[in-house]
Amino acid sequence: MSTSLLYHAWGVRGYVYQRGEFVDGGLVVHLRQEEGWRCAVCESRQVLGRGTVERRFKTVPIGHRPVTLVLPVQRVQCQVCGAVRQVEVQFADVRRSYTKAFERYALELCRIATIQDAARHLGVSWDTVKDIEKRYLRRVFGKPVLRHLRVIAIDELYLGKTGRFITIVLDLESGAIVFVGDGKGGEALLPFWKRLRRAGATIAAVAMDMSPAYAAAVAEHLPKAAVIFDHFHVIKLFNEKLSDLRRDLYHEATDALHKQILKGTRWLLLKRPENLDHGKHEAKRLQDALTLNQPLATAYYLREDLSQFWEQPDKATAAHFLQDWINRPLTSGVRMLKQFAKTLASRRCGLLAYYDFRLTTAKLEGTNRKIRTLQSRAYGYRDKEFFTLKLYALHQTKYALVG
Ligand SMILES: [Zn+2]
Repeated sequence: MSTSLLYHAWGVRGYVYQRGEFVDGGLVVHLRQEEGWRCAVCESRQVLGRGTVERRFKTVPIGHRPVTLVLPVQRVQCQVCGAVRQVEVQFADVRRSYTKAFERYALELCRIATIQDAARHLGVSWDTVKDIEKRYLRRVFGKPVLRHLRVIAIDELYLGKTGRFITIVLDLESGAIVFVGDGKGGEALLPFWKRLRRAGATIAAVAMDMSPAYAAAVAEHLPKAAVIFDHFHVIKLFNEKLSDLRRDLYHEATDALHKQILKGTRWLLLKRPENLDHGKHEAKRLQDALTLNQPLATAYYLREDLSQFWEQPDKATAAHFLQDWINRPLTSGVRMLKQFAKTLASRRCGLLAYYDFRLTTAKLEGTNRKIRTLQSRAYGYRDKEFFTLKLYALHQTKYALVG
């Protein structure tokens, strides 16, 4: 085997090919290191040989055949610093049983396959591939840069499988998650304020939901930043209330047919009208449920109208629009809608602040979608740091695959 092939296929340079053999369907390549040893500690060349240790390294497979490199690694005694160590292996990191080329290949696979698939293809454990990915993520995304932050969103997230909450901070300009805090509410953000101060960032606006906890935290730590109750968060809250209303109506319904029609409409109510699947008669089923239930219909159409609040030409028009909207539920006789209108009335300032920045929450919505995909995978929950790193890397990730 030529030296050039060793180098281009597996990144091995400075070693001599001895022989190759097939063992259990895999290729085993024996290498030898030429002399010219150095001390691994101080790099001195004044060393004496102290025997060899045979080490085996997995490297990039050929097709589905695994390839193992076998190298007797020289041990040397250094005459300068006195250390007795194995000399450095150029093509593998210290203490790793695979080559750097293998590591790069595993990372490439992780982009298009699940850890499990990558591990199966490479013939290594799930943990080995996860460790490779984790070390890479730590190196590249371990310390999010906060200095340039200007417009951020704060969001709380429920991790269903573990029953715990996390709070994330998103850079609305780049779409990157820049902080992941334990729990929800102001407490979860304390480490973030500290890092933000150290970075010297100037935050102009913060988008968030209408719960008082985050607003109070921002008022205390970023007194000059504008608070914005954005489209995404307001509609999300409305949808939660709408789901509750549907559930109550379902339980109150005495008529069997009535119940039948309401059943399974939860997702239809939350879908945007343009996304309804006509093949499944979703529009018709939704219409039936709305016709039978006046309160539900009122709420549904009010939500559609509320979405228009973020599409007004200017702040003054938007202010009129909001006032009109707030007045309508007050006479609707539906308690949930009245409460919601009151909430909006008391948050008027933060709602209208949108028109001072016009920030788009598309990135926030996209991030939420990606997090749900990430959550639907099995990993991440056992290792908090790994999950956080995955979140930091999310804006650069395409999750086409699930499972
Ligand atoms: Zn030395």
